[in-house]
Amino acid sequence: MTCERTDLAGGCACGAVRYRVSRAPIFVNNCHCSLCQKQTGSTSVVNMFVESVAVHLLGGTLSEHVVKAGSGGDHIICRCAACGTALWSYYLSPAGAARCRRAGRHAG
Ligand SMILES: [Zn+2]
Ligand SMILES: [Zn+2]
Repeated sequence: MTCERTDLAGGCACGAVRYRVSRAPIFVNNCHCSLCQKQTGSTSVVNMFVESVAVHLLGGTLSEHVVKAGSGGDHIICRCAACGTALWSYYLSPAGAARCRRAGRHAG
């Protein structure tokens, strides 16, 4: 799936965190793996992969939570410090180059 939109914005449930994504996603997938299911309590997750430099935090404070990725490496989930909404996550390797945003949950 390709997405040509290059001006995506969103925020958390309480409204404290607002962000903007300034580049088109590298790819979007719908992941049904057991890790995503455990982290979200859902059957699957729509993930949107974007370059880290394209993710702009406009307001609010994030808290970072480290979980294990399928590779065994660290997977850091960034949540709103006030309400706990998961906004995006990244992997320490390779070099945190891509951020994986939970798509379809933060529109508006
Ligand atoms: Zn919040
Ligand atoms: Zn997954």
